[in-house]
Amino acid sequence: MSSDCLFCNIVERSVPATIVHETGSVLAFRDINPQAPTHVLVIPKAHHVDAASMAAADPALAGEVLNVAGTVAADDGVDAAGYRLVFNTGKDGQQTVFHAHCHVLGGRGMEWPPG
Ligand code: AMP
Ligand code: ZN
Repeated sequence: MSSDCLFCNIVERSVPATIVHETGSVLAFRDINPQAPTHVLVIPKAHHVDAASMAAADPALAGEVLNVAGTVAADDGVDAAGYRLVFNTGKDGQQTVFHAHCHVLGGRGMEWPPG
């Protein structure tokens, strides 16, 4: 846990969030600036800077993040219509919070290519 990491502070409950799902190792909460009707962030409770670092350090944890992403999509009722999972990584990927997180976006048609 890093006290200057926003998402570590959400895990510790020192920063509030609208939590929609929790397991022993993963937390899911609504994005504060939603880009779609469903916009949930699924994060490992342990601090890893990005998705690839998480997967290299703990492949089972990366799998659990994806498993929870699917659960969140189903709980929000967007699984049948489809949804998008995004891991922004680094500067060109427009990552702004350097604690690995999976965006679950759904409830509207997505565009391709992404911006
Ligand atoms: P990224 O740009 O991929 O690093 O995504 C970071 C996401 O975190 C953005 O979509 C922000 O809107 C979201 N975010 C920032 N602060 C909070 C917060 N306090 N609670 C929930 N989501 C947040
Ligand atoms: Zn963190």
